[in-house]
Amino acid sequence: MKAYKFRLYPSKKQEQTLFQTFKSCRFVYNQLLEKLNKQEKINRGEIQHNILSLKKQFPELNRVYSKTLQYECYRLFNNLRGLSQLKKNDKKVGRLRFKGEDWFKTINYNQSGFKLNQTGKRYSKLHLSKIGDIDIRCHRITGGKIKQVTIKKTTGKWYAIIITDEVYKKVGGKRQIGIDLGIINFIADNKGNKIKSPLFLKKRLNKIKKAYQNLSKKKRGSNNRYKAKQRLGVLFEKVENQRNDFLNKVSTNLVSDNKIICIEKLGIKQMMSKKRNRFWNRRNFADVSWGKFISMLKFKAESAGTKIIEVNPRNTSKICSNCGKLQNMPLSQRTYFCDCGLELDRDVNSAKNILAQGLGFVKNETESSSMKQEAITST
Ligand SMILES: [Zn+2]
Repeated sequence: MKAYKFRLYPSKKQEQTLFQTFKSCRFVYNQLLEKLNKQEKINRGEIQHNILSLKKQFPELNRVYSKTLQYECYRLFNNLRGLSQLKKNDKKVGRLRFKGEDWFKTINYNQSGFKLNQTGKRYSKLHLSKIGDIDIRCHRITGGKIKQVTIKKTTGKWYAIIITDEVYKKVGGKRQIGIDLGIINFIADNKGNKIKSPLFLKKRLNKIKKAYQNLSKKKRGSNNRYKAKQRLGVLFEKVENQRNDFLNKVSTNLVSDNKIICIEKLGIKQMMSKKRNRFWNRRNFADVSWGKFISMLKFKAESAGTKIIEVNPRNTSKICSNCGKLQNMPLSQRTYFCDCGLELDRDVNSAKNILAQGLGFVKNETESSSMKQEAITST
């Protein structure tokens, strides 16, 4: 399955209808939750059946596409499942909460009730049953059959998330690569290629800091506070979008070029960082991006048949990638010098070590599996 995220441009009237739909869906969700809380033994069929009586009781619910309302029952049980999963993992959990206005920002069209008419021009049309034809910007043409459309509202913007049954056809490349993740260079590889950490984030981070300070000065419940909150939300969203674009591009390129990607295992490196408690420093920001980046990379690699090998980052910056000698490398030292004559960018040196370690791992793995094979054939 492949997901597309497109921006929607509803008219004022359509926006009103969408808000009304959100309200109705939230109402149904909360009503069903109340019914669920009263049940001694959980009976999903009975809960779902309640939608019909609610519709009779509150005729305005008929203005919402029926399957969109039904989806709220699915959402409820999905949340319930998530909760019991957490319980299994021994996390402290309460019970499901009623959804307030702020927590309800999506509605769903599953299987039917929508039609996407892609024109290839600036605006296409997305038809949603009971809402109408909404302008949509499809920067890519979707393939496959559309299975689901989710309408999402963020601060000031509307989106449609379109899920199709299209299969990710991308095939991974043939090369092998080791990459080092860093703060100055987001990525450095064993061949000496570097991708700098994007500066636009730094610029926006300063703005976010200011917006935060601004928010904290406003009186609780005041209109100015509301506005300040909105402004912060818009900034966050911009950063998030730009970051996602950046991470998407980098991860896609890596997968389409390589058969094996060796990367440091995250978690250990972050713990070594002392400043990580200051929320809005660049370090922390990098941490979040790395995690996201690696999950994107893994996701794309899997469908392209590219192998991701995570290696222990211990000493990868301290070992000489040429002779194997170990030396201390304070963070300020950007170049690795060694008695053996090596003179190399510290991140590139790390990337070389990461690749060597990762490939060693692959070799051991294939050796041990061929040994197992021998053992089986000899018995
Ligand atoms: Zn050396």
